[in-house]
Amino acid sequence: MTPHSHNNSPSSIISSLYFRYKLTGEGSIRTRGIFVRLLTTVAALRCYLTKRCSENKLIAVTEDLKLDEMTGWYQTAVGLVPTMGNLHQGHLSLIQRARQENSTVIVTIFVNPLQFAPNEDYQRYPRTLELDQQFCEQAGVDAIFAPTPEEMAVPQKSIQESRVTQVIPPSAMITGLCGRSRLGHFQGVATIVTKLFNLIQPDRAYFGQKDGQQLAIIKRLVADLNLPVEIVGCPTMREASGLAFSSRNQYLTVTAKQQAAALYRGLRRAEAAFIAGDRNSNKLIALVQQEVAIVSTILVEYIELVEPTTLMSLEKVEEEGMLAIAARLGSTRLIDNIILRDRQPIIAIDGPAGAGKSTVARQVAANLNLVYLDTGAMYRAVTWLVLQKGIAIDDECAIAQLTNQCKIELTPNQDLQSSVRVWIDGTDVTQAIRTIEVTSIVSAIAAQSYVRQALVKQQQNWGKRGGLVAEGRDIGTHVFPDAEVKIFLTASVSERARRRQEDFNKQGQPEMSLEQLERDIAERDWKDSTRKVSPLQKAADAVEVQTDGLNISEVTTQIVNYYQQRLSQ
Ligand code: AMP
Repeated sequence: MTPHSHNNSPSSIISSLYFRYKLTGEGSIRTRGIFVRLLTTVAALRCYLTKRCSENKLIAVTEDLKLDEMTGWYQTAVGLVPTMGNLHQGHLSLIQRARQENSTVIVTIFVNPLQFAPNEDYQRYPRTLELDQQFCEQAGVDAIFAPTPEEMAVPQKSIQESRVTQVIPPSAMITGLCGRSRLGHFQGVATIVTKLFNLIQPDRAYFGQKDGQQLAIIKRLVADLNLPVEIVGCPTMREASGLAFSSRNQYLTVTAKQQAAALYRGLRRAEAAFIAGDRNSNKLIALVQQEVAIVSTILVEYIELVEPTTLMSLEKVEEEGMLAIAARLGSTRLIDNIILRDRQPIIAIDGPAGAGKSTVARQVAANLNLVYLDTGAMYRAVTWLVLQKGIAIDDECAIAQLTNQCKIELTPNQDLQSSVRVWIDGTDVTQAIRTIEVTSIVSAIAAQSYVRQALVKQQQNWGKRGGLVAEGRDIGTHVFPDAEVKIFLTASVSERARRRQEDFNKQGQPEMSLEQLERDIAERDWKDSTRKVSPLQKAADAVEVQTDGLNISEVTTQIVNYYQQRLSQ
């Protein structure tokens, strides 16, 4: 097993960027040979989006991408990363996730006056557009939208003074935590984010968990107003000291930065107690307080434990809690948080076709007494229902409706050879979903974006309780990005060809030469890893398991050992 190394890591991009910038002072660096479009007006943005949209439609009809079961739906998507600029590794992680999942990535850079109170740092906030532009270029962003306040039709005033139409999130969500000291802040955020969603109409928008209250409010806003955008929350990126990256860290001296790391140390101390069994809010908060109090220059504004989606205060953590802190160091206000989750672990197994993922996942689940989440069986069950109801395969609207209304249940099967038992709308379809009829159209159904969205949502709902082993191509990166254990299972092309030939022989299928199989697999790998959108990638925190020369039980043992080692840490 080798820990995954990431050559395009945030730090490598940033250090190379700053190094080159310092060295040459170049105005525009184009390492990838891609221009990032800088759009500063609404008219240019609209024109750009219209052009992209027609280009994308052309791609969708001319290439066979539509029928690629896992990734077809990403091919024409627009991903939005809203920022206030002065980009750092935190922003970069959002951009990289967006790059993975969308064909067009737009970063907005707008220091939004509406979200600053009159006494806050609106004027002082760092504005570094030229560097940001180079940063986006290196990260493979397609376009930056960086309007002036006038262009966004907002005055340079706080929300209370601005007289613009406001979007006001539920008061219970905006009055606690940061809302207590930052009056009007979340109305200002919600108003501008709604404007950006209307202007850009993205398929997905990416926000950092670092601003946990903001993330919860935006998810709620989108749900309450039925905005057609998926909100993707991304983990907090940190410096080596644990300090969360933030544009405001610039205001800190080297010493103050070291001191600021106490915030995360405090959160980690509470997390350790939580893992050891402490669930009580007062106790966990006191632990953060104690740790932070060691640094006398830190002035705590709040430390609270809330439910991460509703932001209601918790007395104890039942399933999930967000332990959040805000504090001042001199005139700099810093925030951070950590999610405390009381669930059984999730094991995510990703990797190329033919690496033995499903067999291994089933064995690992049986070994650890976890549930094997057979995602393939879910797509098969929907396909079976589509056939049963006589719906045409290309009637995407009817299929979307069906998928959102049906009830799928998976239960473990004692017999390791057969998969889980599968029910759809109360009918046991465990056998019925394995017919040739279902097999021949399941990938066309799985390629439909609404089917996938509904099933991924269902999988994530099951994931709340944990205790799952799931396999696929984007389980650790997309479906369960917070899985406790992530495995990237792989094998050489020749090994996978050999295994596939063995399978064909066992199933009594016509003989296929090893050379032909190797060619097919190599071609599939090439397509998988080079497609612009959603290439097959190891999650940054996955471990790679090379399975050449190993049998199923040896691979299973490796994963089980790794799981136990991870959990004991
Ligand atoms: P800002 O430019 O500060 O408004 O941040 C833009 C987006 O980047 C927001 O969704 C933030 O939550 C996110 N972000 C900021 N810092 C981090 C970080 N350290 N890790 C992950 N995301 C971050």
